[in-house]
Amino acid sequence: VSASDRLPMLPVALRPLPDEGLSGLCLRNDEANGWPADTLARMVSHLSGGDIGFASPGQTILGTVFRLDALAEHLGCPLDEIEATTLMRPLRRLFGDDVDPRRLGSVGPLRVCPTCIAESRFIGRETILPLVRSCVEHQNLLAVECSRGHRLARSRPDAEPFRCATCGEPWSHIRPIQISGPYLLSQRRVVHAYRVVMERGGEDTVARARAVLGKNVALRWSGAWAAHRHIADYRLQPRYIYSLTSLVATLVVAEVPPERLFDEASPPRGPSFICRNRACPTFDRSDSMHSNGRRAETPESYCDACGSRFLGARTISSFDVGNGSSDLSPLSVYRARARLARFREAVAAACRLSIDAGDVLRIADVLERARVPRAAYLRASRLGIADTVHAWQRASPHPVRRWRSPAAEARVVSTKAGSGPGGDAVPR
Ligand SMILES: [Zn+2]
Ligand SMILES: [Zn+2]
Ligand SMILES: [Zn+2]
Repeated sequence: VSASDRLPMLPVALRPLPDEGLSGLCLRNDEANGWPADTLARMVSHLSGGDIGFASPGQTILGTVFRLDALAEHLGCPLDEIEATTLMRPLRRLFGDDVDPRRLGSVGPLRVCPTCIAESRFIGRETILPLVRSCVEHQNLLAVECSRGHRLARSRPDAEPFRCATCGEPWSHIRPIQISGPYLLSQRRVVHAYRVVMERGGEDTVARARAVLGKNVALRWSGAWAAHRHIADYRLQPRYIYSLTSLVATLVVAEVPPERLFDEASPPRGPSFICRNRACPTFDRSDSMHSNGRRAETPESYCDACGSRFLGARTISSFDVGNGSSDLSPLSVYRARARLARFREAVAAACRLSIDAGDVLRIADVLERARVPRAAYLRASRLGIADTVHAWQRASPHPVRRWRSPAAEARVVSTKAGSGPGGDAVPR
């Protein structure tokens, strides 16, 4: 496509916020341009012969009806960023490139958090996940109706963005219903399970879940907090797991941490897996131990608190000089520490580059950019790599770019130099 074939940028073009969904992105742009709700969504669905608006969350699972490439051109941002407002990538990784949107599970009507709308016009991508009924950040239920009981999902050609299409009430005025206790806990677990499976899942995840859950699932159906209808509806036998949502529901109801699907390539945790690093807060315990497969018949394991690795009972690497093992020379510990310091610097630099480029900071992207191996033990909490990324995520401005003339763009270049938490400082 030559430059002249490109679609024009909108007068005001807002890029996606981190974790924003496609409906919210379109509505924010409608509002910023003073257009009725759905103008932008219909504009890009017309290109492929559709007429789909924000009120159809099911269409935003993969977003294929919307010509996402056209939307990217209208907003002047990379296609990647637009695709990240849908569930296309995680679902394709789990179920293959020709995945059917029904693999998510059945999506309900449009749901929004009134507080998120009031604060930042934010409709998260996670609001379309079938079991997510609340905003875990604000701890309230997602609203499906205005205060007078009109469905938010109703759409009308001249409706204003973020207002009830029937009575005009702003969505931000809907009174939030707080949640707490066991229901909040189950919602947190649901959100966590979706996040872990979507971030780490691959083509063998469903098969693995059936195997892992097969052993546990009958035992724990009756957990008190799981009695809530939204969860209890999903009493599946592991062999019936076929959608992302049935997988998540079964993990949550069986109280199996979703990480188990990925960390236990071979045998389960057992007494043989204990952290043998004397300097580790979980020394001599198994709580932070994970299997790392086998080497020549001997199980390898690592500690996600201190990052030490073990082959059987032998320590094969550690970042603590006082690890107390005679298997490791101090020199090899110093080498590991030097390597870690280089990784942390590279990660901080990659975070700064990403922020300067206006990218959304995602840990997997940052590690790739920093050329840090994607080894699980490197994410151990005491090593500070994950913390570095989180600190930069908190300091990151929302990657919102208003349209401006090229001249104005030139004037703002380099105002960001030297920003960020503690510059290049490596956390100790
Ligand atoms: Zn919220
Ligand atoms: Zn209304
Ligand atoms: Zn440890």
